[in-house]
Amino acid sequence: MSRRVIDLSHVLSPETPMFPVYDPVEVANRFTCASDGFYVRSWGFDEHSGTHVDAPAHFAEDGATVDRIEPAELVLPIVVLDVRERLGGDPDGTVHPDDVLAYERRHGPLPERCAIFALTGWGARAGDPVAYLNADAAGTLHSPGFSTEATEFLKSERPGVRAIGLDTASLDPGESSDFAAHVSWLPSGRYGIENLANLDQVPPAGATVVVGVPRFEAGSGGPARILALLS
Ligand SMILES: [Zn+2]
Repeated sequence: MSRRVIDLSHVLSPETPMFPVYDPVEVANRFTCASDGFYVRSWGFDEHSGTHVDAPAHFAEDGATVDRIEPAELVLPIVVLDVRERLGGDPDGTVHPDDVLAYERRHGPLPERCAIFALTGWGARAGDPVAYLNADAAGTLHSPGFSTEATEFLKSERPGVRAIGLDTASLDPGESSDFAAHVSWLPSGRYGIENLANLDQVPPAGATVVVGVPRFEAGSGGPARILALLS
C-alpha cells in the first residue's frame, strides 16, 4: 500500500490560537530523560483547543459525547470545497449551498457518506494568532464560516454528510454571536472539526479522513490528529 498521508492537524502548544472564551493551552515537563530516565509532559487544555472535534453534545444536552461517536463516523470520504476564490478573502464570507452545487457540477455527486471540509484559505494565518482570530476594536472576530443555509441544506438535501470542518477557529463565521451553524448542525447528531491544517494539499475528491479523536468520557469534543489518506 503506497498511500500518501496528509496531516490535517496543527501542532498543539501554548501559542495555539484559542477562541476567546477558552484558556491558553498549558504544558510542563513532568519527567525528563535527563533527570528521570523517561520523558512525559503534563497538559492542561480546554476540549476545544487546536485542531479539534466538536461532538454533537457541544450544542445538545442529549447529543452524543465524543466517546460515543461511532467509529464508522470517524472514517469518511473527504469532499474539499475550495471556496477561496469565491470568498475572495472576505473575512466575513460564508459557505453557501451554491458552493456544494458548484462542486457537484464539477466533480459529480457527493459520496453516499462523507465529510465536507471547506478550504477558505484562512488557515494561511494560523501561525499568527492575532491575524487568525482577527478581532476588531470591539472584540468581534472576523473569519469565514458556514452559513445556516449551508448546514440546513446539507442536513435535508445531502443527509449522508456526517461531518463538516474548515480551516478557521469556528464552524460559524467569527462575527456570529448566536453560533447558528453550530446550533443547526451538531444537534442533528453530526459533528464538526475546527482549525484544520493543510486542506490545500487534499484533492477535491477521492481522499479519506481518519479522525483520531480521544475518547474523553462524556467529552464535548477534543483535540485530534486528523489524517487525510490519498488514494
Ligand atoms: Zn469547537
